[in-house]
Amino acid sequence: MERELLKNAKKKPVTILYPYEKAPIVKDMRAMVTWKIESCIGCGLCPKVCPSTAIKMFGKGKEAEITYLLDRCIFCGDCVDICPTEAIEVTTEYELAFINRNEMTIYFKRLSKSTPKTEGI
Ligand code: SF4
Ligand code: SF4
Repeated sequence: MERELLKNAKKKPVTILYPYEKAPIVKDMRAMVTWKIESCIGCGLCPKVCPSTAIKMFGKGKEAEITYLLDRCIFCGDCVDICPTEAIEVTTEYELAFINRNEMTIYFKRLSKSTPKTEGI
């Protein structure tokens, strides 16, 4: 026991002083997802596959737009895997604390068209 204590006392701590120090981003880490909405063809697969109903799609085809409910997302990456046009990407953004829940609703709108109907979220 004593020998073990002395051995550990010489080692660096395994914890870090977050938020002053940040842990390195690990390979294949999954954090929030994001949309390249202009690549979306409105196939409707991402809202269908999402296990936590974190994705709402409004409009059809190349007019479709996405509302991402970050507070529901479990970062599974299923939407990324299913998207046929690679319009969804996993980011490494993991610092996701918000004061207001409304800030966790993210809209991906096309620049080329008017605002979609978003009632019923
Ligand atoms: S990462 Fe998973 S939970 Fe989050 S939006 Fe995509 S499918 Fe839904
Ligand atoms: S799976 Fe991809 S192409 Fe289909 S609606 Fe979602 S973002 Fe658009």
